[in-house]
Amino acid sequence: MTMHVPELFGSMVFNDAVMKERLPKDVYKTLKKTSEEGLHLQLDVANVVAAAMKDWAIEKGATHFTHWFQPMTGVTAEKHDSFISPEPGGRVIMEFSGKELVKGEPDASSFPSGGLRATFEARGYTAWDPTSYAFIKDDTLCIPTAFCSYSGEALDKKTPLLRSMQALDKQAVRVLRLFGNTEVKRVITTVGPEQEYFLIDSSVYEKRPDLIYTGRTLFGAQPPKGQELEDHYFGTIKPRVSAYMKELDEELWKLGILAKTKHNEVAPAQHELAPVFSTTNIATDHNQLTMEMMKTVAGRHGMTCLLHEKPFAGVNGSGKHNNWSISTDSGANLLEPGATPSQNAQFLLFLTAVIKAVDDYQELLRLSVASAGNDHRLGANEAPPAIISVFLGDELTDVIDSIEKGVDYHDKEKKLMSIGATVLPHIPQDTTDRNRTSPFAFTGNKFEFRSLGSTASISGPNVILNTIVAESLSQFADVLEKADDFDAALDQLLREEITKHKRIIFNGNGYGAEWLEEAKKRGLSNLRSTVDALPVYVQDKTVELFGKHGVYTKTELEARYEIMLENYYKVLNIEAMTMISMTKKDIMGAALEYQHGLSDAINAKKSACPSAASLVEEKLLTRAADLTASMLERLERLEKDVDLGAEKETALETARYYRDVVFEDMNALREVIDELEVVIPGKIWPYPTYGEMLYSVK
Ligand code: ADP
Ligand code: MG
Repeated sequence: MTMHVPELFGSMVFNDAVMKERLPKDVYKTLKKTSEEGLHLQLDVANVVAAAMKDWAIEKGATHFTHWFQPMTGVTAEKHDSFISPEPGGRVIMEFSGKELVKGEPDASSFPSGGLRATFEARGYTAWDPTSYAFIKDDTLCIPTAFCSYSGEALDKKTPLLRSMQALDKQAVRVLRLFGNTEVKRVITTVGPEQEYFLIDSSVYEKRPDLIYTGRTLFGAQPPKGQELEDHYFGTIKPRVSAYMKELDEELWKLGILAKTKHNEVAPAQHELAPVFSTTNIATDHNQLTMEMMKTVAGRHGMTCLLHEKPFAGVNGSGKHNNWSISTDSGANLLEPGATPSQNAQFLLFLTAVIKAVDDYQELLRLSVASAGNDHRLGANEAPPAIISVFLGDELTDVIDSIEKGVDYHDKEKKLMSIGATVLPHIPQDTTDRNRTSPFAFTGNKFEFRSLGSTASISGPNVILNTIVAESLSQFADVLEKADDFDAALDQLLREEITKHKRIIFNGNGYGAEWLEEAKKRGLSNLRSTVDALPVYVQDKTVELFGKHGVYTKTELEARYEIMLENYYKVLNIEAMTMISMTKKDIMGAALEYQHGLSDAINAKKSACPSAASLVEEKLLTRAADLTASMLERLERLEKDVDLGAEKETALETARYYRDVVFEDMNALREVIDELEVVIPGKIWPYPTYGEMLYSVK
């Protein structure tokens, strides 16, 4: 069957074209205006939209609707209601009202609220975000919504994102007006998130309780072949994986998701999908849906999709590259180095705003990618280090240097060119390997934030990016709005800001040990673990920033801090409990069975020939017995230390304890078990090996 992609694309989305076709003209216009200007939707308009949406959804086979939202768990939530409404005579009709469209009232008490629940009512409400289209998934009409407490505190990941986009919009428009742009109505940020994942056969997945409960393997000796031959990256895609990718593309296209690029990644069984970029809000919704679809479609192909940051030790883990830029409502990319000097000046201002933002708020950016899972990657020579720096490339670094020194960058003899007259070089799209180690790289007309973990919602990092850049722009606008001579003021401002913030620019190898030293000399922050990074949430500087731009209140920040700390140690606790259970239930048994077999063999041989010299079996038995004794000792230590963890007073203390004590115990236990795995015959070993998992998809 041939597929008509243009017809398929967005076929399950109540998008602009469908609205235009199905809504009365005036209703359509009002709705557009509402969503463009962020106004509240009147109930009479909502009623008409809801009716049209319902008819459309029913034609597509939907029976239910749901307010689809993104609580602070980082995954999406939905509660399905059917359209049915009873009629006299035992019949039903299909109903969906404007009220049901714009507002839902799920019980908020079972979602993490980080103390917001205690302060506010248990009830929460969901409100339609008309900037993100409704869609049909699994015969259910899904309405993207924000999730708040009754007093308006954000309980989700969408609300702060929308607020941060508004903050950046406001400040960027101020700046553009200064450049004489009277047309621009709105400035938005755009994101294209590249998503990495692993695929393994479900038969091996189901035999690994650690994958089932924690998403990563807690044991596993290294296979004879890992990623050392570098033969998987961009390698030929296996037929089974190819069939999966095709179906995934189709499902995503139906949902209006611009799935574009797919390829094999560095590690065996690892792959990547990248969409065409879109507005940050939509990109975030779509990335959540993409992750969900990756799992669903894998199931149909007898495979399991692993989205954890580090499913397997010893081979690369998975991340997400957040390609980010700023654009006007007419689609002009503000991070595109322009063709004329006046555009260049504007570009240089936005570029400097980003550099300043990253330097001023390094720790917030670091925090935005912190999680127990991502701790396995950052700084482990496969992902950027926990130190945040900016890669600009040689051309732009030269430009920045010359601005700082006040010379034209083409001709360093000629003194004091004004920024408005600087001619920028063409910045080539970075397709080389040279900056793969940078956490935050300029790639021609956008920045690529590379430190994100593969599982996390991209909302958090983008809330922070948008807000810190809004802050730089607001400071710049404050200065420039007061200036009598704009060009001179701009010159001076950029020169000062570049001098102040150039320490954050680093074009070298971010994985090298020398960078650690150098970064320290430059005074850059290095928050190595999640637990180190989390307290940044509640620092005065953070509270002030988010308060000023109306993105998070202090209470909302405190809530997020609590939730993240709890999440951190709960994840480690689940891992520890899983390890304990697997060791006790299966691994210990296998070790003892192996030893019984050996002693039986020894006894048989000895009784047949009492004078036999030292037997091979005896050596093996001694080795296995030593390892088993050591395993038991380490298991008991882990059990004891997990129990002690319950006695810690605060969430921060508990999190620190889990990082410093429980995590170390787990590593120690793993070490001896991985040695045992090598010693014990495959027939007895209770779990699929790394080799069997990583090469399970033929
Ligand atoms: P690669 O990184 O493989 O060289 P690209 O640089 O073209 O590929 O794009 C990587 C990702 O960046 C894609 O998801 C793409 O849509 C996205 N991207 C491109 N331009 C922008 C932009 N202006 N804003 C946000 N994302 C963008
Ligand atoms: Mg890329």
